[in-house]
Amino acid sequence: MNPKADDLGIYVHVPFCKHECPYCDFYKMELRIQPARTRIEYPRLILRELELLAPELTSVDRPVRTIYFGGGTPSTLPPKEVGALLASIRELLPVDADAEVTLEANPENLTAPRCHAWRDIGINRLSIGAQGFAPSELDLLERLHQPELIERILANARGAGFDNISLDLIFALPGQTLEHWQANVEAALALEPEHISLYGLTYHEGTPFGERHARGELRELDESLQAEMFRWASSRMEEAGFGHYEVSNFARPGRRSRHNTRYWNRRSVVGLGPGAHSNFGSRHWFNAGDLEGWKKSILAGGLFRSEPEESAPEVRTAERLYTRLRTAEGISAEDDPGLFGLCIRWSAAQGSAAAPWLHMTESSFALSTEGWLVLDALVESITRELFRSA
Ligand code: SF4
Repeated sequence: MNPKADDLGIYVHVPFCKHECPYCDFYKMELRIQPARTRIEYPRLILRELELLAPELTSVDRPVRTIYFGGGTPSTLPPKEVGALLASIRELLPVDADAEVTLEANPENLTAPRCHAWRDIGINRLSIGAQGFAPSELDLLERLHQPELIERILANARGAGFDNISLDLIFALPGQTLEHWQANVEAALALEPEHISLYGLTYHEGTPFGERHARGELRELDESLQAEMFRWASSRMEEAGFGHYEVSNFARPGRRSRHNTRYWNRRSVVGLGPGAHSNFGSRHWFNAGDLEGWKKSILAGGLFRSEPEESAPEVRTAERLYTRLRTAEGISAEDDPGLFGLCIRWSAAQGSAAAPWLHMTESSFALSTEGWLVLDALVESITRELFRSA
C-alpha cells in the first residue's frame, strides 16, 4: 500500500480498571494502586507522547478518521481531561470533522451526568462491556455491575444523545447452557444497540482463570456446544437485522466499527500509551506494557517504543490473509489479486471437502460461518501454501 495514500486511526490505551477481571489478559492494573493524580496526569502524558510523534505522523497529509480509547477501562478517566486531550489531538493532527470517536466503558461508570459529559467532549460511540445478563455469570466473571444496570445505562447513554452503541458479550462460560446463552443474546437485542461483539471465553495463561483451568477447577465448554452457540447467535443476529461482518462482530447497516475495520483492512493505526501497538504504513512498533517506564521516558522527552520495523512482504501477506479472512468480505480479486489467486488454488487442492467453509464468488474469497469456526486451522493451511509458493 502506498503510505502517501494512507489515512490514520489513533488508539489510546488506558491501562486502569476498578477491578481486574480474572479472565482478562490485556495490559491493565487496578486504579486504586495508583496515586490519585494519575487520572488527571495520564491524558496529559498521552498528549506529550503524541507531540513527540506528531512530526513523523504529519510528514505527509494523513487525515485522522478514527480515535479509539480502549483499555483497561478508559471510562475511569475524567471526561474533562479526556476532552482537553481530544481538543489537542485536533489541533495537532487533521482530524475529520465526522471522525468516529469511541470510548470503551464499563456500566458502573456510565451515570447520566457522565454520559452527557462524554458526549459533550466529542465521544460519539460507546463500546460497553456488558458481558452477560445473568447475575451468576457476572459474578463468575467478577464484573462489578448487575444486569439491571445495563438497561439503565443504555437509557442514560440514549438520553445524552448517543446513537452508536456497541455491547460486548462473552459466551462459552463454564457450565453455560445454550439456553442461558440465548437468553443473553435476546437481552442484548432487546436493548437495541447498533453493534454487538461476541467473544468466546479464553483461558489465557497467566490469568487467574488460566490457572484455575490448569488446575482443573474450570472446565472448557464442550467444543460442539461452543460451535452451536456461535452458529445460533450468528443466525439470530442476522434475523434481527445485524450483519455478521467480522468473526466476532455484528452491526446494523452503517454501524460497523470504523476503527476496528482499519485493523482488518491493515490501515494505519498509531497506538499511544503503555501496551499500545502501532502499524504505520509498512512499519510497525509497540510500547511495552510498563506504565512507569513509559511515563519516565515521555517525561524525559523520549518515545518509549520498540525500534520501528518493516515487516517482510511475506509476513505482511500472511497477516493480511488472517485479518481479511476474519471479515465477511474476505479477499477481493481486485484489491489483492495475488492472495486471491493463492486462495483459489488452495481451495481447488482441497476439493469439495472445503465447500462448507467457503463463500467464493468470481471476485472474492471469504469464509462462511462454518469456516469461521475453524478459522485458525484454515489460515494455517493457506499460509503453508503461501510459504510453499513464495
Ligand atoms: S475485562 Fe475490561 S474491566 Fe475487566 S480487567 Fe480487562 S480491561 Fe479491565
